[in-house]
Amino acid sequence: MLIKEYLNAKYGVTRATTLLACEARAFGIAYPPKNGWLQKFGDIEITSDMAQRLRSALEASGKQSAAAGVRVLDVAWIELKKTPGANDPDFLNSKAWKRVRLQALNKHGRKCQCCGSSPATGAVLNVDHVLPRRLFPQLALHLDNLQVLCCDCNEGKGNWDMTDVRPAVEATGTR
Ligand SMILES: [Zn+2]
Repeated sequence: MLIKEYLNAKYGVTRATTLLACEARAFGIAYPPKNGWLQKFGDIEITSDMAQRLRSALEASGKQSAAAGVRVLDVAWIELKKTPGANDPDFLNSKAWKRVRLQALNKHGRKCQCCGSSPATGAVLNVDHVLPRRLFPQLALHLDNLQVLCCDCNEGKGNWDMTDVRPAVEATGTR
């Protein structure tokens, strides 16, 4: 379930434009949200740990719209539990990751964005998190946080390294 799908279901509309402070916190969105927040964050998949955080936050909030959020989570809970958290050992085997990984390969092309090597030249390609998933778990399934690297370039980059090798034009506006 994507953040925008959650918000649409909660408000019963097709283009929800608002969220509660406690929801923003659970999703890692600054509050009050800046212009373009929905475009930037709406397509992020809600992981099981985000869903847990969100549920606790909603239950602690007395707002009427928070109760609607809990009802949406109740309906989606079984599916949400299947989407592992960013630091879950099963993360890289999850369907949610494989789906966004493929989107990244289609978006950036099947070649290393750092050195240009490709499967045709013998490279094994990895889809890398620009902002590391262990430090930014809320961006683990965010297409805009992914780049394509060959195995060698990826191995040269530590889990804490935030080097963005994507072309500047392409990277503009994605942070
Ligand atoms: Zn490379």
